[in-house]
Amino acid sequence: MLNEKILKRLQKAGYKIIGKNKHSAVKLCLWTRRSIRTGEKEFCYKQKFYGDIGIKSHGCLQMTPCFPFCTLRCAFCWRDTSITYPKWIGKTDEPEEIIEKSIKAQRELLSGLGGVSHSKKHLKEAMSPSNAAISLAGEPTFYEKLSQLIQVFHKRNMKTFLVTNGTFPERLESLEILPTQLYISLCSNSKEMMKKTQKPLISDAWENLNKTLELFPSLKTRRVIRLTLVKNLNMSEPEKYAKLIERALPDFIEVKAGMAVGFSRLQNRMKYEDMASHEEIKHFSKKIANSLGYKIKDEKRDSRVVLLTKN
Ligand code: SF4
Ligand code: SF4
Repeated sequence: MLNEKILKRLQKAGYKIIGKNKHSAVKLCLWTRRSIRTGEKEFCYKQKFYGDIGIKSHGCLQMTPCFPFCTLRCAFCWRDTSITYPKWIGKTDEPEEIIEKSIKAQRELLSGLGGVSHSKKHLKEAMSPSNAAISLAGEPTFYEKLSQLIQVFHKRNMKTFLVTNGTFPERLESLEILPTQLYISLCSNSKEMMKKTQKPLISDAWENLNKTLELFPSLKTRRVIRLTLVKNLNMSEPEKYAKLIERALPDFIEVKAGMAVGFSRLQNRMKYEDMASHEEIKHFSKKIANSLGYKIKDEKRDSRVVLLTKN
């Protein structure tokens, strides 16, 4: 599946593919580095927005149990979408093994920071991560032992953020253990827009996403809908987004600009001029907020993201 050539390329790009069956991966987030280098003077928007539950950029383990599997090929995806399959292939690794090896890999990646100016305190804390972002690449609900994976993280006193593209509602519904915070990526407001923006590899992606939105209120955890918007692609008709979000009753809505970084730029899926400015994102957010009766709670200009919450 991931042949030697691909593995070498991924390693060069900073990924560590882990486990016997090579379906999991870890990569240091840019914000984890920045936070360690600056002694937490710089941190990601999730620390700014969700500091109340202890999210720390330098304590973040960015990982995935489903590196090669995804049902979509989103234009704005900063991962290499040419190497993903829309169904599980091969055997699965156990959650304990994935987590042990993820943390070991994170420590190896972090050790490279010792040679540059950094905060010793933050580097030491980072060696024992406090939160896991299960979102590095691929669609995590493909992993059949996702509940156990979340449970093992929680047993280690780690918070979990899980981001799903919503195309696998049955798996989400069957989760016995929910993450600390659950995200649905909502990046299209119609089936036609989804075809153009997210190029589904399965025929019922739109219908499944709608089922997930219906299911969302019944999932008893902190729930977030995230919109990643690209100009002239999926950044139109905010009221249609509002109608979809209304069904999901999220605690928070993140409205974010898609960024022309990583493979989205290398594979010519996004150009710099497709990136919405912070002002444009804020303007669009206000329209969604007004339609739903939500309000702007916070924003982070350098990430071009606005946080909405219930009024
Ligand atoms: S929460 Fe997300 S943005 Fe923040 S450090 Fe972790 S992976 Fe990076
Ligand atoms: S669903 Fe996520 S991982 Fe899959 S292509 Fe879209 S952005 Fe990338």
